[in-house]
Amino acid sequence: MTQSANRRIVVLSGPSGSGKTTIVKRLTEDSPVALIKSVSATTRPPRPGELDGDDYWFLGTEEFRTRLDAGEFIEHAEVFSSGFLYGTLWSELNRAWSVGGWAFLEIDVEGALRVVQQYPEAVTIFLQTPSSAEFERRLRARGTESEEVIQRRVATAEQELKQADRYRYTVVNDRLETAVSEICEILKAEEKNYNAQ
Ligand code: 5GP
Repeated sequence: MTQSANRRIVVLSGPSGSGKTTIVKRLTEDSPVALIKSVSATTRPPRPGELDGDDYWFLGTEEFRTRLDAGEFIEHAEVFSSGFLYGTLWSELNRAWSVGGWAFLEIDVEGALRVVQQYPEAVTIFLQTPSSAEFERRLRARGTESEEVIQRRVATAEQELKQADRYRYTVVNDRLETAVSEICEILKAEEKNYNAQ
């Protein structure tokens, strides 16, 4: 078994109206391989109902930067030009790997590309909404963002879409069940590949 076989990573990206959160939840429950969701750190304040250590590690900007300087992150990015920082901690990857699981990262395109630079064998999946109009509709239906934030996210999503071909797989979230089972098939095939190495 090669070293990388013990350090499996799957990265899922997509605009934040692509149904990512629901898919992530379903995958962590139903996936055919052991997926351990990495809990990202962020300087964004929690939304109602979000829990520290569960949805994110909510950090102050100073603490985030100190830990960044200490090399605690595999990647980080400022998302949506909002001024908020997001990043993946090495400790989260180690947590997954120490129990023989796949580290499952739900991060933006910039972060995904940084992870791939370090782990070219990371399995990258881009989740696409059927159309940008549908994306905007879902974002509005969620009702948690201001108009300004929605517009910024739509613009970011359009940029991100152009990056989809830098991912190993693209899955269109047209129907939830279909998207989840497509991702499960990808993971099964990738696990088989790893085990054959
Ligand atoms: P939200 O604020 O809606 O929870 O997340 C906003 C965006 O941040 C999402 O597109 C998500 O993929 C991205 N994100 C979450 N965690 C990380 C992370 O650890 N690193 C990077 N680069 N992006 C992240």
